[in-house]
Amino acid sequence: MCGIVGAVSKREVAPILIEGLKRLEYRGYDSAGLSTVEDGSGLTQMREVGKVLGLEAIVAESEINGKLGIAHTRWATHGKPSVNNAHPHVSSNKISVVHNGIIENFQEIKDFLANEGYEFQSETDSEVIPHLIHYHFEVVQDLLEAVRQSVKQLRGAYAVGVIHKDHQNKLIAARSGSPLVVGKGIGENFIASDVLALKPVTDKFIYLEEGDLIELSAEDISIWNIDDESVVRSSVQVFLGPDSMDKGIYRHYMQKEIFEQPKSITDTLEGRIGSNGLLIESFGVGAASIFEKIESLTMVACGTSYYAALVASYWLEELAKIPCQVEIASEFRYRTVVCRP
Ligand code: GLU
Repeated sequence: MCGIVGAVSKREVAPILIEGLKRLEYRGYDSAGLSTVEDGSGLTQMREVGKVLGLEAIVAESEINGKLGIAHTRWATHGKPSVNNAHPHVSSNKISVVHNGIIENFQEIKDFLANEGYEFQSETDSEVIPHLIHYHFEVVQDLLEAVRQSVKQLRGAYAVGVIHKDHQNKLIAARSGSPLVVGKGIGENFIASDVLALKPVTDKFIYLEEGDLIELSAEDISIWNIDDESVVRSSVQVFLGPDSMDKGIYRHYMQKEIFEQPKSITDTLEGRIGSNGLLIESFGVGAASIFEKIESLTMVACGTSYYAALVASYWLEELAKIPCQVEIASEFRYRTVVCRP
């Protein structure tokens, strides 16, 4: 999982973006970067492999300015962790994009764009997005429309944030399959992968739906749904407790997660335990009838969750007597797996 933060404001956004990235560190990442649009001097792009602290240092050194910006922590899926592969990716020194997810038809789009003369600087799937937006922008001369046409060509999962050097009060974003929220400020607006990123700047959020496209200025928020209809989505106030994202007394987030397990499990089960134990409804509507029909289980997971699933498979076979198979998610996508219903 990577992290996205974006801001359009009347004040400098680099500190907001860096703070937001730090608050998304718990999601795991290998590199970080940001872009701002600076009055007069155009688009900046800074990227660094490793911790957000490293990015923060180069941002502080170069004293970048700008009241519009996007930032990213990357968890590589296509191409190794490197400065060139880190986001944001820029097209023609005009359009900068951060992307979370995987574009499955990137090769096809890349071939098309290469044929049109676009040069690629990275090994990522994501870099096709800024070039594709630029390609459409050259024709329609409208950033929102260019993003709309581009995302319609993407297959796979994405949350994207887009800025253009000539539009200092415009942040475009879209999501499908990857998380993205809008944060509503006063005289400023934001995007982020998770509300936690924006805790210092707002507590009012709009949760976007699959296929939503948004345009933010410092004053306004406009949203279109997957059918290009203009929609109004209500905002909610989210209370974020004081320690929900800090490392607190722990040395690192993994240690914190381990020690928080009793509380996490308690919170999860609250209101779901009946006199005879866990209520089956807590697994969702119709769970009882679905559970009755289960003959086998396939768990699809990556990294640590893959190991957790292996442990779970021992328990499920031992206690529930259900045959279990555990698959590595990145392989599962592309191979033919024989799964029972
Ligand atoms: N697929 C993209 C890449 O490898 C984005 C990864 C992410 O979601 O961080 O750059």
